[in-house]
Amino acid sequence: MINICWFRRDLRLTDNAAFSQALQDGLPVLPVFIFDTSILDKLGNKGDRRVEFIYLAIREMQEALTAEGGGFEVFYSTPEQAFKNLLKKYTIKSVFANRDYEPYARERDKAIHTLLQENGAELRLFKDQVIFGPAEVLKDDGTPYTVFTPYSRKWKSLLTDTSFQSYPVSRHFSNLYQHTPPAIPTLEQMGFQASGERFPSSTIYSDLIKNYSLQRNYPAIEGTSRLGIHLRFGTISTRKLAAKAKELNETYFNELIWREFYQAILWHFPQVGRGSAFKPDYENIEWRNNEAEFERWCNGTTGYPIVDAGMRQLNNTGFMHNRVRMITASFLAKHLLIDWRWGEAYFAEKLLDFDLAANNGGWQWAAGSGCDAAPYFRIFSPDRQTKNFDADLAYTRKWVPEFESEDYPAPIVDHDFARQRCLEVYSRALKK
Ligand code: FAD
Repeated sequence: MINICWFRRDLRLTDNAAFSQALQDGLPVLPVFIFDTSILDKLGNKGDRRVEFIYLAIREMQEALTAEGGGFEVFYSTPEQAFKNLLKKYTIKSVFANRDYEPYARERDKAIHTLLQENGAELRLFKDQVIFGPAEVLKDDGTPYTVFTPYSRKWKSLLTDTSFQSYPVSRHFSNLYQHTPPAIPTLEQMGFQASGERFPSSTIYSDLIKNYSLQRNYPAIEGTSRLGIHLRFGTISTRKLAAKAKELNETYFNELIWREFYQAILWHFPQVGRGSAFKPDYENIEWRNNEAEFERWCNGTTGYPIVDAGMRQLNNTGFMHNRVRMITASFLAKHLLIDWRWGEAYFAEKLLDFDLAANNGGWQWAAGSGCDAAPYFRIFSPDRQTKNFDADLAYTRKWVPEFESEDYPAPIVDHDFARQRCLEVYSRALKK
């Protein structure tokens, strides 16, 4: 009889709650990873670098585990099929996994839980990728927060001496199930290609976090941590990062709380993940949805250099600086009056750090429809944003070198005109 540790978005062998608990439960532990075809089949881009990122993380972990006589059994299938195979091959007592709060993951885990139960096994879920799960940070009357500041106050009040305590793994490696693991399917076998390009480092730089409040708003500076992809796939520990952040910089610490706030919103209000505006009035907005304008926004040829710089950074690197995410998102929804869900889907396809809760939260914030959003009448001026945050145009010039030449297109719409149009359309919808 064995226990299984099912890895999902926790791709590391240090400070891992489920893996640590599994290794201390007494039975030999078989680590399992599933390249989930129900997710992968929907990815249009066969060069999707997020799949490559996961693949490289699994390969690296496999090396460390095989050195201990163990190793992953890796599947390329639906989770249901993978567990049916595992149940045939092994007698399983428990499957340990870290809890994932996204709607698809909740459904998937429910189905696997049932399948295991029918076969005399159980699914045991642990908190790992957040400090506080969605059901832990509630108002005194038990209802969820919908505004960040009181949420964060409550979140901080719940901290104890053990909140950031790590879960040891390697000291229990002697409990790994000993076997020669089958080969991991290659990217090519799964229909994907490797780019060979580098990913952001997972190193937590203390100096950067210390200076975060001063530098984070300037897209030309490497002033943010670029740890998004590592938080997304669990290649760093949230607890370790949060402990550092608490010690070094309050603003950075708050950003990690924003991450959990949006996860809680998605958990308590799952309709936002299915395309609904958090504030129902915003469903009445008459979007223009001009496809040619959307195309220009996607390609970075709107004639607004800061918007185009952001979109080109995204298209070329899979990353966009937060300040510019706010500018480009606001521009799409408010200047062009294109449904924010179009932009949300585009970011979802391109961002290496794509996270359903944070992306939806960011888009609804920018469009005004979100829980704790920018007011509808606050319309970013791209020129003012440039003056404030890219005054020497270093970021703009890097991504749009031709912006002062004749080759560069005229603005897609006049700012003052677009501002007025947005105010009219929004106030009509919101009856203000
Ligand atoms: P840092 O500035 O170094 O912050 C550290 C970490 O804190 C981030 O990696 C992230 O996990 C978290 N964080 C920071 N800001 C936010 C925030 N506003 N909301 C939630 N978490 C935050 N973030 C994502 O992780 N995935 C997304 O898909 C995503 N889409 C966004 C879409 C829009 C329209 C907007 C306005 C923001 C979006 N964000 C998203 C939030 C934010 O822009 C990114 O987290 C950040 O830019 C990532 O860069 P970084 O890792 O250097 O972050």
